Amino acid sequence: MTNQRVLAIEDELHIQELLKYNLEKNGFQVSVAENGLEGLNEALTGKYDIILLDLMLPGMDGLEICRRLRADKRTKKTPIIMLTAKSEEFDKVLGLELGADDYITKPFSVKEMVARVRAALRRYEDDIEVHENAEAQGGPIISYRDITIDKEKYEVRKGDEKLSLTLKEFELLKMLIENQGKVLTRDLLLDKIWGYDYLGETRTVDVHIRHLRQKIKDEDGSNQIIETIRGVGYKAAAEGDK
Ligand code: CA
Repeated sequence: MTNQRVLAIEDELHIQELLKYNLEKNGFQVSVAENGLEGLNEALTGKYDIILLDLMLPGMDGLEICRRLRADKRTKKTPIIMLTAKSEEFDKVLGLELGADDYITKPFSVKEMVARVRAALRRYEDDIEVHENAEAQGGPIISYRDITIDKEKYEVRKGDEKLSLTLKEFELLKMLIENQGKVLTRDLLLDKIWGYDYLGETRTVDVHIRHLRQKIKDEDGSNQIIETIRGVGYKAAAEGDK
């Protein structure tokens, strides 16, 4: 798994150097962009396997870049890890909501940073594999109430309307519906969707669930599919239960 291409969008010279040196030492090819616009344009070439994205950048900030990368076909599913300073708590959550896969808080340990890059790439590769095996796993279409999930095309519809979900939101919804009637713990969801070696917090699951709920709710806010089981996790009611 060498020669994977990393784009680091980061304006601080010493962090650029830290990322480049250590990732190259671990077999990655690293390109650096030092301002937001340049980084966005470089990322949109679609030639990177993963993007490390600083939050505070000259030109365009990391959240806006993240939003634009998720809106573009070429980078819709490319793993994005946000780099944030300790004080930027609010933005960290927003970053996940905008579709970043993970975040690393500066200052970070090199070992942790490399582990997270590897974990994000592995999850992405697993997703591709799942995608390729979808047919073998009992057909690509799941229907649940007014929701239809096409596991092959990675599409979710509510009635006739196509929903725009991030990869993680897609996986969460699919897993809850495939296991309808069962309570899935936050740890289990983290484990299955983010990977056993994910170093983040269970709060990550809550953030993604909250965003997912916003996208799948009825216009009047009713008919919530995902139930919170306080202190435990989440479940989708078995179809027929109400
Ligand atoms: Ca910065």
